[in-house]
Amino acid sequence: MRVIVAGAGISGLATARGLIAAGHEVTVLERAPRPRTGGGAITLWCNGTAILRDLGVGLEGTGQRLTTLRLRTSRGREVLEMDLEALAERFGSEARVIPRSSLIGLLAGGLPEGTVRFGARVTGLRADGDGVRVRTEEGQEYDGDFLVGADGVRSRVRALVLGDGEAALTGVAIWQGLTPAPFDPGPTSTLMIGRQGDFGYMGAGDGLMQWFFDVPYVRGAPAADPVRLLRRRFGRWAAPVEELLASLGEGDAEWFPHTRHKVPSRWGAGRCVLLGDAAHGMPPFMAQGTNQALEDVATLVHCLATVPDPAQVVGVYSAKRKRRAALASTMATHGLAVSGPRSLMQSEYVMRMNAATSPRVATRVFGRLLSTLSDRI
Ligand SMILES: Cc1cc2nc3c(=O)[nH]c(=O)nc-3n(C[C@H](O)[C@H](O)[C@H](O)COP(=O)(O)OP(=O)(O)OC[C@H]3O[C@@H](n4cnc5c(N)ncnc54)[C@H](O)[C@@H]3O)c2cc1C
Repeated sequence: MRVIVAGAGISGLATARGLIAAGHEVTVLERAPRPRTGGGAITLWCNGTAILRDLGVGLEGTGQRLTTLRLRTSRGREVLEMDLEALAERFGSEARVIPRSSLIGLLAGGLPEGTVRFGARVTGLRADGDGVRVRTEEGQEYDGDFLVGADGVRSRVRALVLGDGEAALTGVAIWQGLTPAPFDPGPTSTLMIGRQGDFGYMGAGDGLMQWFFDVPYVRGAPAADPVRLLRRRFGRWAAPVEELLASLGEGDAEWFPHTRHKVPSRWGAGRCVLLGDAAHGMPPFMAQGTNQALEDVATLVHCLATVPDPAQVVGVYSAKRKRRAALASTMATHGLAVSGPRSLMQSEYVMRMNAATSPRVATRVFGRLLSTLSDRI
């Protein structure tokens, strides 16, 4: 089948890998003039790394393998710990932090020359029972048998196919960066929660550290001097907040308002499907966006191989994916509401109650959550 994929982000490139390996002819249309090299690092849980391995993408030696997930209060007290190595053993696949640019490079590296057309912004679409015709802003037309909308949270394909409105702001924004590590965080991902918001940090390989602060946000432009803002807000927090802030230079902090797009009950129409953030944009609170996108890819590749009529694929694919993706989105949004800025749950007193849960129980619960959100593990 000739498949057109809109968007060469992680979702679009992973889709291209899976479909080409299954024997399809794939063209990826990307609005940017060249491959994206920026962005922070992504946490891939055991399901994400397993699906990437299935797609022939080996992550060994890239980024940082995680062995521990740790929760601390803003005063520095450790209250919860999860053993990610135990989960790696149970699921046969590890958790790993990997710079977005490295993952994009690994995914694109395995594609035949010319698969991705850069400077091709999808603006129009005509679809009938036999195929799809996609138009770009640059005036090109592409014919295919099937279209995959992997064009992110402000998806043009979603607007054309579903027309169900835009993603909504959640009231929280993130300041984040991938910068030289001022100290060695080891193979541990740490989340600190307090009344001013939350702060997370983890190694991302090659001496880099991924860090983020969630702060309240309603509207307007981001602060011109984020380090000053973060120091004002988080300056009284325990180590290593000040050490991290002191290490930052101008332009090190990137800002994203968190958005959530309703997970639709049908992920497309006719021969057009949605995938990744286009289908289920969600806050990154539980690091689920990419992992859920990779679940979409594995399911779509399977559906295209097993459902004989391409027009029936949307129904089967949506039915397989929507429950888990909606759960991930709800948990990420509520997790943010409960532990993000302004919640009573962030008080030192309430946070310390987490210490009643043993690492063994916390690990088991987290493992169960991962397998509930996955079809792969
Ligand atoms: C701060 C932050 C931290 C995150 N951390 C994590 C994490 O730790 N773990 C995790 O699993 N997820 C995380 N996520 C979520 C994750 O980044 C996304 O879920 C994931 O990247 C989705 O990829 P995508 O390919 O669907 O969309 P995108 O990455 O947005 O890619 C869409 C692509 O489509 C292109 N495009 C857009 N419109 C058009 C058009 N009209 N025509 C052609 N091309 C078009 C864009 O240029 C882009 O290249 C995080 C997100 C944020 C904002």
